[in-house]
Amino acid sequence: VEADNKRRSQLPHYPGLERFEMIRKLGDGAFSNVFEARDLKTGKKVAIKVAQKSHPNDKRANIMKEVEIMRNVRHPNIVQLIHYMETYDNYFLTLDLCQGGELFHQIVKLTYFSENLSRHVITQVALAVRHLHEECGVVHRDIKPENILFDPIPIIPSKKRIYRPTDSADKEDEGEFMPGIGGGGIGNIKLADFGLSKVIWDNSTLTPCGTVGYTAPEIVTDQRYSKSVDMWAIGCVLYTILCGFPPFYDNSIRALTEKVARGEYTFLSPWWDTISDSVKDLISHLLCVDARKRYTIDQFLNHPWIKEEPFIRNDPMPVLPAK
Ligand code: ATP
Repeated sequence: VEADNKRRSQLPHYPGLERFEMIRKLGDGAFSNVFEARDLKTGKKVAIKVAQKSHPNDKRANIMKEVEIMRNVRHPNIVQLIHYMETYDNYFLTLDLCQGGELFHQIVKLTYFSENLSRHVITQVALAVRHLHEECGVVHRDIKPENILFDPIPIIPSKKRIYRPTDSADKEDEGEFMPGIGGGGIGNIKLADFGLSKVIWDNSTLTPCGTVGYTAPEIVTDQRYSKSVDMWAIGCVLYTILCGFPPFYDNSIRALTEKVARGEYTFLSPWWDTISDSVKDLISHLLCVDARKRYTIDQFLNHPWIKEEPFIRNDPMPVLPAK
């Protein structure tokens, strides 16, 4: 309790946020901090994203765009904006709290996910993206494991220990045991952070925004294919959760950029040896350099791998009670 109180007393105090009791810091963004807080009126826990107006990267228009997009989006797999306000110094976005934290942290904890668990996670991300692309005309543009959140706290059952091959040939043992994942339900996934998102289609006419008649073909085409940036990102996330490392990596930014531009990745042995051809086929249709040939969200959701049944179905979803 003492440590808890000390931690809370070190949290910043924001004039205008008296209605909330700050509990802990959840994350840092490029120019915002996100806190877990309790709404003293309702007793409900929420997440509050605070962006300082004095920050050198302050872009009022960007915050307004993020708020406007979030106001128009409502989906079980997307973090909901509850309330927006600003004071002289700060912008505040009150959001649905995702108690389970980032997908990124689960990868760090578990090294990699089984195909069933990966399907469970990526399908929910895809349902969020389908809602954004087809109903809201929004491209997220920043899909990554840090922006994919679990709600509530997942207990990923270790029913099965997965034998993970290692690359050390001199080991008598063929590999080492890593915590495995038995599949089954692990709770909800929610997509967060609309800071880089963009509206591309006019909702009522289902045409690109602006006066199409005067829009140059490259702009119209650009808008059409801008959705494909999310599909590429879904491919990167799916690759990463299945093996524990990203498809494109290099210490040098320049070399990394070149690898991405050429779509230079492999299903590295031995890590990918036991992973199904079906999911490799799906990934190759997402990590496809030609945006016109890349899968759309509907093609993704109709791929046989996505439609496969997990081995373990209807497991009661084990979740920890909220603190
Ligand atoms: P970035 O620089 O990555 O674009 P940002 O400033 O736009 O970040 P967010 O990505 O929205 O901020 O949030 C930063 C982190 O805060 C997230 O990665 C996540 O860990 C945490 N976070 C954000 N929203 C929530 C939420 N609703 N519930 C729980 N944690 C959250």
